Amino acid sequence: MLFAQSELSIELCVHAIVSNPRPNNMNIHEYQGKDILRKFGVAVPKGIVAYSPEEAKLAAEQLFSEQNCAVVVVKAQIHAGGRGKAGGVKLAKSAEEAFDIAQEMIGMTLVTHQTGAEGKEVRRLLVEEGMNIEKEFYVGITLDRSTSRNVLMVSTEGGMEIEKVAEESPERLLKIQIDPLYGIQSFQAREAAFFLGLQGEQFRNAVNFISALYTAYTAIDAAIAEINPLVVTKEGKVFALDAKINFDDNALYRHKEFLELRDISEEDPFEVEASKSNLNYVRLDGNVGCMVNGAGLAMATMDMIQLAGGKPANFLDVGGSASPQTVEEGFKIILSDKNVKAILVNIFGGIVRCDRVAGGIIEAAKKIGLHLPVIVRLEGTNAPIAQKMLDDSGLNLVSANGLRDAAKKVQSALASS
Ligand code: GDP
Ligand code: MN
Repeated sequence: MLFAQSELSIELCVHAIVSNPRPNNMNIHEYQGKDILRKFGVAVPKGIVAYSPEEAKLAAEQLFSEQNCAVVVVKAQIHAGGRGKAGGVKLAKSAEEAFDIAQEMIGMTLVTHQTGAEGKEVRRLLVEEGMNIEKEFYVGITLDRSTSRNVLMVSTEGGMEIEKVAEESPERLLKIQIDPLYGIQSFQAREAAFFLGLQGEQFRNAVNFISALYTAYTAIDAAIAEINPLVVTKEGKVFALDAKINFDDNALYRHKEFLELRDISEEDPFEVEASKSNLNYVRLDGNVGCMVNGAGLAMATMDMIQLAGGKPANFLDVGGSASPQTVEEGFKIILSDKNVKAILVNIFGGIVRCDRVAGGIIEAAKKIGLHLPVIVRLEGTNAPIAQKMLDDSGLNLVSANGLRDAAKKVQSALASS
């Protein structure tokens, strides 16, 4: 029973984290990703970023005259895929048409399968030379945690969601494990291009493309480099038509130049606040806010909330030292979510003493003027003293003794809310 609940919560967390690139990975826009890839010799169409219809028109004029292309493509720049189907990718045959499309696109809210129902507002565009596409493919590199290696994935199903391909037609997806010591071997890049059914000029260009992409991926410490679609043109060229790059946040200190690429307007404002205070926060859609130290305990706490008939409103790990400041910051972030009906604090005072945490909670509760029931379970050094402090505080703080008791108290708090 408990085990099953555990799995549920892990699934929940994993889902929340996967569908939400922060706090694990910094995401950037397509045009920024393409600029980086170009420096590593990855073939990318010529493109210009535009913040207004006027800029889009100028960009289109420049591309028409320099690239001699028949069309330009106007692409909404948001941190989400699926723009094509949602009207965020349009072709223009003239600079005037690019102007009109840009006028419509800038300021519009794009709703795609990756944005959630609220969608994302378009603030920037990429105007790019149009390509003479013959075929679309998929190429992606990411870390495979089960083998502790980078995995190169290629598929003949370009433009499709790769998760769907993996599930429904796995024979169309080739995965190649890359040895971290040797890096990508040329036979592996050839195997990938062969799998895509390419020949001649297209084959050679694809091999070079894949090798350059892998070099870029490792050099910039990316967590994901995904090209969907990769296209081959009738002229035998190979290009990245789309580019999704996520950085490994733990390696960003080695790439200070990438920090300025962060576009905070694309991120969840609450998660941005949380990351400023070094809190690991992921927003979920339940009604019980929780504040916990340690990811393992946080997951167990989410199970407990579920068991008590509630749904976790968030994942929040305040880290090893639950200081009064982090507790206060944590409360503020949890309270900014209007769905929250009760808060559960579950902190193990091993390094930090429970009485200090209790002091921090009381101080924060007074300062913020907490109006919701807060169930507090503190275990570890000086736990009895902490419990007494909470009980004597005269605030809406309910101390709990053990997990079971905490679950019961969450349940009754929800029932009377
Ligand atoms: P996503 O939908 O957010 O993943 O955006 P993409 O950049 O992948 O673009 C979606 C689709 O638009 C692609 O699969 C292409 O079919 C089409 N597209 C994008 N750029 C071009 C281009 O230069 N020429 C043409 N003809 N189609 C394009
Ligand atoms: Mn795409």
